[in-house]
Amino acid sequence: MLRLVLLGRPGAGKGTQGRYISKKFGVPRLVMSDLLREEVHKGTELGKEIKRYMVEGKLVPDKIVYQVLRKRLIEVKEGFILDGFPRNLNQAEWLDKFTQENNAELTAVLYFNVDEIAVLRRIMGRLMCKKCGRSYNIFYDPPPDVRKCECGGTLYQREDDHYEKILKRLDVFNEETKPLIDYYAKKNLLVTIDANKGIEAVKDDVSSILDSLLRR
Ligand code: AMP
Repeated sequence: MLRLVLLGRPGAGKGTQGRYISKKFGVPRLVMSDLLREEVHKGTELGKEIKRYMVEGKLVPDKIVYQVLRKRLIEVKEGFILDGFPRNLNQAEWLDKFTQENNAELTAVLYFNVDEIAVLRRIMGRLMCKKCGRSYNIFYDPPPDVRKCECGGTLYQREDDHYEKILKRLDVFNEETKPLIDYYAKKNLLVTIDANKGIEAVKDDVSSILDSLLRR
């Protein structure tokens, strides 16, 4: 069974690779920002508070994140792929405690290593569909029509995908998330992947890494 953490700058391709792993190896994905956005869409007081942090590209406070994640983490039985969590040392320690208490030790932490310039190119070109949630990239994977998704839904750019917000998110990664690379390396869980390569090349690397982890 695979229990994975995907680590990397915003725009490193964690979403794309996570979907690929989920399909190929039959492991459910838990995408922290999607779980938080679900809460925002419910329009609750908690949702409103979460939104204030997310539109600024700041981390949502740990206590809220734990509350939202715990509910889902205890439901999944076929392993998990965590995308976007943990994002700081406190969260990593919380996850250690959770995995120990639930006999669900991590298999590996995949670190998708990508340059900041590549991140800007990827995220600034990103368009999302309001209806089906699919994402396009105007440079690499353009939609058939700049206004509409294949499903007919309207396309939009995420508020936190604007230049200044991306820089803020990169700063947050460098300051808060980067220390996790060392943290997981010391635990012998870290596998670094060159995520500057194209999507298919990264998929091949991911696939052979996971095959060998499952053979262990
Ligand atoms: P992402 O789509 O993964 O880049 O996340 C978008 C935003 O969701 C982040 O900028 C944060 O505001 C929030 N977020 C996602 N994951 C976490 C987390 N583990 N801790 C705190 N905030 C998070």
